[in-house]
Amino acid sequence: MEVKCKVFGHQWKIKKRSNVIQYDDMGYPLRLFICECKHCMKLEQMWIDTEECKNDVVLQWSDYIPIMLKDGKVCSEYRNELNEWIKKRMAESEE
Ligand SMILES: [Zn+2]
Repeated sequence: MEVKCKVFGHQWKIKKRSNVIQYDDMGYPLRLFICECKHCMKLEQMWIDTEECKNDVVLQWSDYIPIMLKDGKVCSEYRNELNEWIKKRMAESEE
Protein backbone atom coordinates (compact mmCIF):
# COMPACT_ATOMS: atom_id res chain seq x y z
CA MET A 1 0.00 0.00 0.00
CA GLU A 2 2.93 2.36 0.70
CA VAL A 3 4.07 1.79 -2.89
CA LYS A 4 0.60 2.55 -4.24
CA CYS A 5 0.55 5.85 -2.30
CA LYS A 6 3.99 6.79 -3.56
CA VAL A 7 2.89 6.27 -7.16
CA PHE A 8 -0.72 7.49 -7.10
CA GLY A 9 -0.74 9.68 -3.98
CA HIS A 10 -2.72 9.22 -0.78
CA GLN A 11 -6.48 8.72 -0.96
CA TRP A 12 -7.96 10.68 1.91
CA LYS A 13 -11.19 10.08 3.74
CA ILE A 14 -12.45 12.09 6.69
CA LYS A 15 -11.89 10.33 10.00
CA LYS A 16 -12.83 13.04 12.52
CA ARG A 17 -14.53 16.40 12.41
CA SER A 18 -13.54 19.19 14.77
CA ASN A 19 -15.60 22.11 16.07
CA VAL A 20 -12.95 24.60 14.92
CA ILE A 21 -13.67 26.97 12.05
CA GLN A 22 -11.47 29.56 10.46
CA TYR A 23 -12.47 32.02 7.79
CA ASP A 24 -10.22 32.30 4.74
CA ASP A 25 -9.19 35.56 3.05
CA MET A 26 -12.36 35.48 0.93
CA GLY A 27 -14.57 35.07 4.02
CA TYR A 28 -15.45 31.39 3.48
CA PRO A 29 -15.47 29.05 6.50
CA LEU A 30 -13.02 26.14 6.71
CA ARG A 31 -13.26 23.34 9.28
CA LEU A 32 -10.34 21.39 10.72
CA PHE A 33 -10.66 17.66 10.05
CA ILE A 34 -8.47 14.63 10.63
CA CYS A 35 -8.20 12.68 7.40
CA GLU A 36 -6.83 9.20 6.91
CA CYS A 37 -5.36 7.65 3.77
CA LYS A 38 -7.44 4.57 3.06
CA HIS A 39 -4.38 2.71 1.80
CA CYS A 40 -1.47 3.46 4.16
CA MET A 41 -3.52 4.82 7.14
CA LYS A 42 -1.43 8.00 7.31
CA LEU A 43 -3.23 10.75 9.27
CA GLU A 44 -3.23 14.42 8.32
CA GLN A 45 -5.06 17.45 9.69
CA MET A 46 -6.74 19.40 6.90
CA TRP A 47 -8.81 22.57 6.59
CA ILE A 48 -11.78 21.83 4.34
CA ASP A 49 -14.61 24.07 3.10
CA THR A 50 -17.65 23.75 5.33
CA GLU A 51 -20.40 25.76 6.93
CA GLU A 52 -20.41 27.14 10.46
CA CYS A 53 -22.60 25.10 12.83
CA LYS A 54 -23.97 25.62 16.34
CA ASN A 55 -21.28 25.21 19.06
CA ASP A 56 -18.40 25.77 16.62
CA VAL A 57 -15.40 27.71 17.82
CA VAL A 58 -14.00 30.32 15.48
CA LEU A 59 -10.22 30.29 15.42
CA GLN A 60 -8.60 33.57 16.42
CA TRP A 61 -5.04 34.65 15.75
CA SER A 62 -2.73 36.19 18.35
CA ASP A 63 0.76 37.68 18.49
CA TYR A 64 1.54 35.74 21.68
CA ILE A 65 3.45 32.62 20.63
CA PRO A 66 3.83 29.95 23.32
CA ILE A 67 5.66 27.01 21.77
CA MET A 68 6.42 23.89 23.82
CA LEU A 69 9.97 22.81 23.13
CA LYS A 70 11.18 19.24 23.37
CA ASP A 71 12.74 19.78 26.82
CA GLY A 72 9.40 21.00 28.21
CA LYS A 73 10.43 24.65 28.17
CA VAL A 74 7.90 27.11 26.76
CA CYS A 75 9.30 29.54 24.23
CA SER A 76 7.17 32.66 23.90
CA GLU A 77 9.37 34.69 21.58
CA TYR A 78 10.81 34.33 18.14
CA ARG A 79 14.20 32.80 18.86
CA ASN A 80 16.52 30.27 17.28
CA GLU A 81 14.70 27.47 19.09
CA LEU A 82 11.49 28.34 17.28
CA ASN A 83 13.17 28.15 13.88
CA GLU A 84 14.68 24.80 14.81
CA TRP A 85 11.29 23.55 15.97
CA ILE A 86 9.62 24.59 12.70
CA LYS A 87 12.42 23.01 10.64
CA LYS A 88 11.94 19.76 12.54
CA ARG A 89 8.16 19.76 12.08
CA MET A 90 8.55 20.38 8.35
CA ALA A 91 11.01 17.49 8.08
CA GLU A 92 8.64 15.19 10.00
CA SER A 93 5.67 16.05 7.78
CA GLU A 94 7.68 15.17 4.66
CA GLU A 95 8.45 11.64 5.89
ZN1 LIG B 1 -1.38 6.66 1.67
